[in-house]
Amino acid sequence: MLRDSLRIPHVSTGDLLRAAVKAGTPLGLQAKAVMDAGNLVSDDIVLGMLEERVAQDDARAGFILDGYPRNASQVEALDAILGELDTPLDAVVALDADHDVLMERMKKRAEVEGRSDDTPEAIAKRLDVYAKETAPLLDIYQKRGLLKTFNGVGAVDEIQATIVAELG
Ligand code: AMP
Repeated sequence: MLRDSLRIPHVSTGDLLRAAVKAGTPLGLQAKAVMDAGNLVSDDIVLGMLEERVAQDDARAGFILDGYPRNASQVEALDAILGELDTPLDAVVALDADHDVLMERMKKRAEVEGRSDDTPEAIAKRLDVYAKETAPLLDIYQKRGLLKTFNGVGAVDEIQATIVAELG
C-alpha cells in the first residue's frame, strides 16, 4: 500500500532472500536453513542482494526498505549504501504491536502463506532476535531525529493513511 501511495519500489530483504531460495541459487540454499531457524542471514549475503536491488533504475527516485537494517553493522552498511547513492534517509517507520498480537498474526500467516519460517519455534526465535539485535536500532534513529513510530494495531487502511500523511 505504501509503495502505491508513495510511488517508489518496496525493497524487502526477506523477499529478496525468499526469491533466491526459490531460484535455488547457491546463496539462497545457504540462507534457507538460517531463515527457517529464525536467525539472521549473514550480513554479507544480505548486503550483496540489497546493493544489487537498489542499484536498479526503478529505485533511483527512492525506495521503501523493509526488513533492513536488522543489526548495528547493517546500520553502518546502509549509511554507506545511501552515501554511495547520494540519497538521504528520509524517515524510519516503526510499527508498534504487542507480542501477543504478533504471535497471532504470524500463526494466521502460517495458515495462509505457509512460510517455512512461521513455525512456533522460528517465530519465537525471530522475536527474540528482534528484541536483542533490532530493537536497539530504534534508539540510533531516534537520536538522528528520523524515527516515526505508529500504532501497528487496527485497520490497515487507517494505519497506512496515517503513515502517508506523516511522511508527506
Ligand atoms: P522477513 O521477510 O523480513 O520477515 O525476513 C525473513 C527472514 O529473512 C528473517 O528471519 C531472516 O532470516 C532473513 N532476513 C531478512 N532480512 C534480513 C536482514 N536484513 N538481515 C539478516 N537476515 C534477514
